[in-house]
Amino acid sequence: MSAPRILAAAFVMAVTAGLAACQQGGGFKIQNVDLGAIAKGVGNLRDVKEPEEIKIGDGMAETLLGASPLLDDAELQKYVNEIGMWVALQSERPNLPWHFGVNSSDHINAFAAPGGYIIVTKGMMRQLRNEAELAGVLAHEVSHVTRKHHLNALKKTALADLLGEGLAATSDSKNSELVRQLAGPTKELYARGLDKGDEFEADRVGVVLAARAGYDPYGLPAVLTTLATADPNDNFLSLLYKTHPLPQVRLDKLAPGLATLDGIKAPLNATRFQLHTRKLRAASSQ
Ligand SMILES: [Zn+2]
Repeated sequence: MSAPRILAAAFVMAVTAGLAACQQGGGFKIQNVDLGAIAKGVGNLRDVKEPEEIKIGDGMAETLLGASPLLDDAELQKYVNEIGMWVALQSERPNLPWHFGVNSSDHINAFAAPGGYIIVTKGMMRQLRNEAELAGVLAHEVSHVTRKHHLNALKKTALADLLGEGLAATSDSKNSELVRQLAGPTKELYARGLDKGDEFEADRVGVVLAARAGYDPYGLPAVLTTLATADPNDNFLSLLYKTHPLPQVRLDKLAPGLATLDGIKAPLNATRFQLHTRKLRAASSQ
């Protein structure tokens, strides 16, 4: 059993034990909260197996890419996949079917979906100066997947029943129905963002992953520093600011963990990054 699964199982046991205590205290409803329904959701939480998780990610990625399709730049997409795969191989879940892509949005952001989907916006790519920064951003997103942050957020919604029961029985021919059912919650989740605690965890795990992949662990902090000094009224930053803690707060939270990685001397690979992103920069200077 992998570390996240052990954590998830421990979480379920703790929550279930808590619910059992409430139940003994007098029925399933306390202050109009239906504990029966919550307990059912918790049961489902345990039931989402990896194939289902991947299927959910497929559906969510379809909605995300429907809103902003992948950029038509084969060289860039191949490059981002190579760096992303290498980072993901250092993670707790190297065998997921990882996919990395740059979409055509000018907003400065990056997303992950369950099962191994990572999307970086064109706007974010233009903010980056070297491969260590790209690896840092991808590592943050990979950590959201390995720690199942989006999957767990979805489980707190009305979709819990679908995730636990309906999905296992969903055949390929019914995938369009799954995509349809996931579309609303997906849009809602990516507009609202994850819990701040999940973001801080992805930062912490991300810098370690980037370092394990052989990159300067200061790649992600360097991106956060760029974002912290950007104009907060920039329209293209609005979604990032709405869905994440402020960059300076993230930097402050990261600082103690970074101190332990201080001795690492690793490459930034600025020249290779500039080479593979030249079309992107040529287009932006027009
Ligand atoms: Zn994040």
